[in-house]
Amino acid sequence: MPGTSPASIRPRQLKATAPGSIRRGPSSGLVLRTVLHHGPIPRSAIAQVTGLSPAAVSGHSAELTRLGLLREAPNSGGARIIGRPHVPVDIDTETYVVGAVHVAVGHTTAAVLDLRGQVIAQRRIPHTAAQPEEVLAQAAQALNELLAAHVRGRTPLGVGIATGGWVDEQSGTFAEHSMLGWRSVSVREIFGRSTGLRVHVDAHARALLNAERLFGQTREQNSSLSLFVGNMVDAAFGTGDHVHHGPQSQAGAIAHLPVDGSSVECACGRRGCLQATVSDRAIATRAAQCGVIPEVSMTLLIEAARGGNERAVELFIQRAKIVGSAAALLLDVLNPDIMVVTEAGVMNLPVCLETLRDEIRRRSRTRRDPDRTVVATSFPETVLATAGGAVMLDPLYRSPLEMFPEPASRAS
Ligand SMILES: [Zn+2]
Repeated sequence: MPGTSPASIRPRQLKATAPGSIRRGPSSGLVLRTVLHHGPIPRSAIAQVTGLSPAAVSGHSAELTRLGLLREAPNSGGARIIGRPHVPVDIDTETYVVGAVHVAVGHTTAAVLDLRGQVIAQRRIPHTAAQPEEVLAQAAQALNELLAAHVRGRTPLGVGIATGGWVDEQSGTFAEHSMLGWRSVSVREIFGRSTGLRVHVDAHARALLNAERLFGQTREQNSSLSLFVGNMVDAAFGTGDHVHHGPQSQAGAIAHLPVDGSSVECACGRRGCLQATVSDRAIATRAAQCGVIPEVSMTLLIEAARGGNERAVELFIQRAKIVGSAAALLLDVLNPDIMVVTEAGVMNLPVCLETLRDEIRRRSRTRRDPDRTVVATSFPETVLATAGGAVMLDPLYRSPLEMFPEPASRAS
């Protein structure tokens, strides 16, 4: 609760995170996430929220402060005496930053974020090549330039890289991206070589699930579903702090779910697949064919819809209905507490979120309250940069000491 006076925080006012969520994993990560969600917060209150002993909280806080991840809150007075239990601590956003990269179909986004997930700077790099090595080299150059211009004395901890399709975070590989035509691209290795940074890689739907859990609106939820509809259509599901990857990280592949009444040809050889029917390219192509926009461009279509062009709005409403029917199925199978949707119509046009919720209400057997439990992304202005950043920030907030070489890891 940024902005709350530290002195006004009473431990009992703090809502403990749901059982089974932050209580897993190394205790240092638990302390760091508690400060992220409640800071500035006194150490005595961290002990109450987490259930850790005051001595354990004191030890972890001292170590995290020494590493530059926590600091005593400004105006707390006498900041040099580390360990006094009633002095509030907060996330230190002045020592480190992280790099972020999101690879979309036509462009890559490079960005720099602070440890609270705030985007400090970002740049969009149109793809001028098809080969992954060239695309990644351009992204690395842009990221290096952004870091040089914006870190202002801070140290980059590493870079997170996100994209759609099948991403294997264990091996750091873009395993298969159907629209880019990329297969088995060793992104961690390529990007690590060109930036000299620690690199983490994950799928954007999972990255956005983690971003919501850390910095957005699902932090008090036991389970959540992330639905991404852009040129790629992907989902991710998690309970507590656990995000489901499944064997070879293939969970969430919903691109080829069948859509009632669609006969759109899909590259997989069938007709009526979800991604082929509702992708950005599919609806921008439809809009251009109908003369709604002069060329195939999602940016132009969004501008037209926001400007009140009825045919443009209607295309987004049609997409919201189709996405709603797929979402109802996923909601019934997984029954998450909340679903977060990243889709241009839902993010820009209130009527699309209403349409999506209506369709879910109509089709789902389990979802009675979509007005409360189906929401748009918390990061409408920065969603791609935030996805990339979350890929790096999630492992930091799970196991902060693993980011640092010995002797820091002794305290884990
Ligand atoms: Zn298909």
